[in-house]
Amino acid sequence: MRGTYLFPKDGQAFVSQAAPAVATLYMDMTTVAASTAAPRSLLDLTLAELEREFVASGLSPTHARTLWRALHADLAADLSAVPNFLPPLRRWLAAHLGDGRRFFIDAPEETADIASTDGLTRKFLFRLGDGQTIETVLMGFKGRHTACLSTQAGCAMGCVFCATGQMGFVRHLRPGEIVAQVRQAELALRAAGHDGLRNLVLMGMGEPLHNYDAVMTALEIITDRRGLNIGPGRITISTVGVVPGILRLAEEQRPYHLAVSLHGATEEERSALVPASRRWPLAELMAACRTYFAQTGRRIFFEWTLIAGANDSPAQAGRLAALLVGLDSHVNLIPLNSTGGFAGTATSNMAAKAFQKVLQAAGIPSTIRQRRGIDVAAGCGQLRADRSLE
Ligand code: SAH
Ligand code: SF4
Repeated sequence: MRGTYLFPKDGQAFVSQAAPAVATLYMDMTTVAASTAAPRSLLDLTLAELEREFVASGLSPTHARTLWRALHADLAADLSAVPNFLPPLRRWLAAHLGDGRRFFIDAPEETADIASTDGLTRKFLFRLGDGQTIETVLMGFKGRHTACLSTQAGCAMGCVFCATGQMGFVRHLRPGEIVAQVRQAELALRAAGHDGLRNLVLMGMGEPLHNYDAVMTALEIITDRRGLNIGPGRITISTVGVVPGILRLAEEQRPYHLAVSLHGATEEERSALVPASRRWPLAELMAACRTYFAQTGRRIFFEWTLIAGANDSPAQAGRLAALLVGLDSHVNLIPLNSTGGFAGTATSNMAAKAFQKVLQAAGIPSTIRQRRGIDVAAGCGQLRADRSLE
């Protein structure tokens, strides 16, 4: 069900609910206490956390590192069959992993694996432990593969042209559910005889900075050199403009690329497409980008979905260029992909080129994104965990 979305100060958006009564609050606290014993996914843990688990069990952290390699480097399907596990590790696994025990391993069920006729794009539909479905897209180009990951089931931000936004917010993904998407994509590549994943973009379903902590934990796991080992410089986080999240990325000096979805260069034009702009207005967002740039010295990517007659005029390109003065930026122009809930149409090639020319004249580099995976609804903004495919 979709409710009213509130955006409290810490940048967390959530579905509006009546304030809970004191008795309910008390119950919630007891539930939290009980839930600390709830099973956790081993894929939710960083290596440091896994090592602490082993030390707490009276074992050497070396066993944690052996397990880590099996999980995240070898992507072992069956831990009981790994030959180099020493008896203490085998005993730990027998005592801690499995039904009714402290840990489980996320194993999202692949309910669909659809190849686009472009020959370069594959879309996976995964069913999570609680039945929620998410999508992951694998894109190949000249032997290099990029996975486009989901960070939430649905999205609370409600951008009018985006299928995920149109479905509303369902829930955040845990770190393990994000890590599991990378494992599955990597396994699919290995099975097809390709090299491993080269790049990751957090541009699937959901708003990554609305699920900040889980996303950062997942990226810590994914970038670990002893595991999946995907370099932070090969990872791009795309945000609709969650200002507190952008500031936190800068503050914490997170080593990932940042892409900011703008779509409009005046407050009025932007909030017509991106309702979250009312919570984090354009002026505030650009100020956060300047702070980010000042603190990190990093180039910022800006995304602009081109919609005919809405935000594709040369005058609008000029306003965008003015907005980016003084920043090291690169603009990705994305011709609109169609979604059920939005009537707009994509900009013509000619208009896209004219838009790009204005940016070029202002010295701002840009790329017009190639259309990918449109026939299987795997293009930007088309992901909505289509149940008809299950
Ligand atoms: N929530 C994040 C990341 C996921 S969306 C964000 O909004 O940035 C990834 C990109 O796809 C965003 O730039 C988004 O604006 C764009 N997008 C969404 N719907 C689209 C559509 N129908 N056609 C083209 N691009 C779209
Ligand atoms: Fe959410 Fe991004 Fe879609 Fe907007 S474009 S609704 S922020 S996923």
